[in-house]
Amino acid sequence: MAQTKTWNTTIKVRLDPTPAQAAFFDENFNCCRYLWNQMLSDQIRFYTETDAHFIPTPAKYKKDAPFLKEADSNALVSVHQNLHKAFQRFFSNPSRYRHPTFKSKKRCKNSYTTYCQYYRSGKGTSIYLTKDGIRLPKAGLVKARLHRRPLHWWTLKTATISKTSSGKYYCSLVFAYTTKPSRQIPPTPETTLGLNYSLSHFYIDSNGHAADPPHWLARSQDKLRYMQQQLARMQPGSRNYEQQLYKIQRLHEHISNQRKDFLHKESRRIANAWDAVCVKDTNLVKMSQAIKLGHVMDAGYGRFRSYLQYKLERLGKPYIVVEKYFPSTKTCHHCGSVNEALPAGAKRWTCPICGTTLDRAKNAAQNLRDQGLVQYSASQRQRASA
Ligand SMILES: [Zn+2]
Repeated sequence: MAQTKTWNTTIKVRLDPTPAQAAFFDENFNCCRYLWNQMLSDQIRFYTETDAHFIPTPAKYKKDAPFLKEADSNALVSVHQNLHKAFQRFFSNPSRYRHPTFKSKKRCKNSYTTYCQYYRSGKGTSIYLTKDGIRLPKAGLVKARLHRRPLHWWTLKTATISKTSSGKYYCSLVFAYTTKPSRQIPPTPETTLGLNYSLSHFYIDSNGHAADPPHWLARSQDKLRYMQQQLARMQPGSRNYEQQLYKIQRLHEHISNQRKDFLHKESRRIANAWDAVCVKDTNLVKMSQAIKLGHVMDAGYGRFRSYLQYKLERLGKPYIVVEKYFPSTKTCHHCGSVNEALPAGAKRWTCPICGTTLDRAKNAAQNLRDQGLVQYSASQRQRASA
């Protein structure tokens, strides 16, 4: 039975701070980085001396570093918590997680996270939205482009302020909300979509539809390549060079936004139109290493799948992952026989058993859909008998 579920959702907005507010944000980034590094070096020292894990609280540092008092105190608390979490992860599984590392001004992202406090009187919060801005602790009212509004039953949890390498400020607001249990519609072959990853088309679905990455994305990529060639001919350190570098950083950001936009729209379209989606459990990292992707969508498919997963789950629809070793490509969709002799590059092939001519990608997507439904009903039966 479906239960009431709590979800987190994020709205990211561009901030338009005054010079004083921008300076405050920059100072906060520095304070958080400073505190992280101090806490980390103290933890390392305690650990080598006493063999016990301990991270002092932010208040401990304010005496020696009075500039921390100027920072948003909740942001400092979240540094403490993040470092603590990073250690917990590391201790739980040292082979999988790295030991926390020091943050550098050059390499690391400029950001800090602060909490929304709900005042005890029940009136007001420490962070709130106005018509054209966001009120942030210590920064005051910051102008923002609010293209999207939270729904009235969402509660604001945290705000993360960040700065891109080209100098733009953003605020990511995390909201929590609960959904009531919805009646699940059992998926049928007609209402279920199988997706097969495709290098040249992003994916091919079980109806033979290809999701070609939009042409404007490829155009931006071409432009980027051209600009990088220009940069290579410039004198490093010169004014032209710096300007070109800035333009390239901006284009990088633009491309990443264009890509995200495409992935969100594509996953939203599918999540709304279908009752269930089946994908294959593949190791995307290994795959991209094997193929050496010089492709526009490179790592996008992994992100696309995670977008699709949460969008489906929020609608109460199943997202089905077909196990890795299922031979989706080699199986004939028509008769179910497995063709071990299938040549690697063939786009179309003819089944030696039943003689059907198959489209390689579409056939694989159809097999994924059918296998996904088999897996799904088996898991439902298992749940019912448990
Ligand atoms: Zn066949």
